[in-house]
Amino acid sequence: MLNWVANGAIVLGAAGLIYAQWNLARLLRELPESRVRTGWLLMFVLIPIFTLGYLGFIPLNWGLYHSIPDLLVPIIFLLGGSFVCSVVLLTYSSVESIRRITRLEHESITDPLTGLFNRRHMDRRLDEEVARSRRYGQPLSVVMLDIDEFKGINDRLGHLAGDYILESIAQRLRQNLRRVDLAARFGGEEFVVIAPHTDQDAALQLAEKLRSEIAQTPIILKGHEHVPPCAPDELYVTVSVGVASLNIEPDSRDNADFLLQRADDALYRAKAGGRNRCESGPSRASLVAAS
Ligand code: GH3
Ligand code: MG
Ligand code: MG
Repeated sequence: MLNWVANGAIVLGAAGLIYAQWNLARLLRELPESRVRTGWLLMFVLIPIFTLGYLGFIPLNWGLYHSIPDLLVPIIFLLGGSFVCSVVLLTYSSVESIRRITRLEHESITDPLTGLFNRRHMDRRLDEEVARSRRYGQPLSVVMLDIDEFKGINDRLGHLAGDYILESIAQRLRQNLRRVDLAARFGGEEFVVIAPHTDQDAALQLAEKLRSEIAQTPIILKGHEHVPPCAPDELYVTVSVGVASLNIEPDSRDNADFLLQRADDALYRAKAGGRNRCESGPSRASLVAAS
């Protein structure tokens, strides 16, 4: 009878190891190449060796169990198998949770259509950049872009083609910014670029670069699934751009809201001035004079 109990415990422990091995295979498929994965890969090699050891123990010790204390080793085998199984299961579910949280976090800061940051994230980052800029006395600028006559494009080509144009403009922005710049979709067909360490002149150059890049490179419509057959093969789209820089004088009360407001005012002037152009907000000198 004791033999059956001992061997049952060992077989159960081995079953735990086999189940752990199966979950470990799933875990290894989820994990990217990393030191953690290499560690688990080592575990993946060790578990079958342990399982063979468990099963090899049965014939070697058959008939040697005479009293309850003799069951100690088989029970340790059982607990060992259960322990490895629990660790692997817990790790697998932790990896799944981390993956889910990372995805949610990404979704909460990203505009789903363009893949740029969304307005909420931009507001948060702009507050941080303003604080940093003030603390270290570094210049900071924002560039606000609005697609010209976009409503007409939508009306002619349809909303889905309009979406494709928004995606294409976002892609142009991504391609033409520095790594430190942050591009966000501010609203419908408006975008904002936060440019740290950038004074008004440099920001105006950046704005001009973005404007001319967008104006000169047509968006290819031909063959796109959402573009109606009557549409031209390619479309030239323009943007109007407003630029503003933070006033970092120690006595200034400039903040993120004022900064965006000035960029918006400049954008309005660019529209009023004929579109497809860049305008900048009041210079630092006039802000100092006004404060
Ligand atoms: P302006 O040159 O003065 O900026 O003219 P506009 O036509 O671009 O400006 P208006 O504000 O009149 O129109 C903006 C249009 O953007 C209206 C709206 O239908 C469109 N729009 C806003 N969000 C989206 C979107 O997510 N997808 C598409 N396809 N269109 C959008
Ligand atoms: Mg517009
Ligand atoms: Mg607009």
